[in-house]
Amino acid sequence: MKASSSAKRIASAPAATQPVARTRRTTIAAVEGKYDAIRRDLEQQRRTILNEVVEGLTSSNSQETFPDVSDQASAEAEQHFSMRIREREQRLVKKIDEALARMDQNIYGICERCEEEIPYPRLKARPVTTLCIDCKTLEEQEEKSRR
Ligand SMILES: [Zn+2]
Repeated sequence: MKASSSAKRIASAPAATQPVARTRRTTIAAVEGKYDAIRRDLEQQRRTILNEVVEGLTSSNSQETFPDVSDQASAEAEQHFSMRIREREQRLVKKIDEALARMDQNIYGICERCEEEIPYPRLKARPVTTLCIDCKTLEEQEEKSRR
């Protein structure tokens, strides 16, 4: 009984040391902190956007009285414009939040489509991206052909 179980252990030993090729994901996790600079950029950008939105809200509240119709019309156009800006900012803040969440989950910088690592210069230039340049190009081509 004793002899056979130890023999089994010896027999299974080489198999346990086999999967050397599957270290890629561990490598990514091990370099945690490699996106620290991007994280700081994103957090800074997020703060800037939110500050601007708050400023925009307070300044639009202060000009509530309109002396004549033309002024009111231009004020409405202005308000419409700033609302569109805010929508764009909201989307960007959402994207920033998602990028920060991916960093927390250690999946930041991995392409959503091909699951390859997105090259660092691309991330630095466009930190909220979820696609590598090849997949982004493919997606754009698909969107064009759908129209
Ligand atoms: Zn990709």
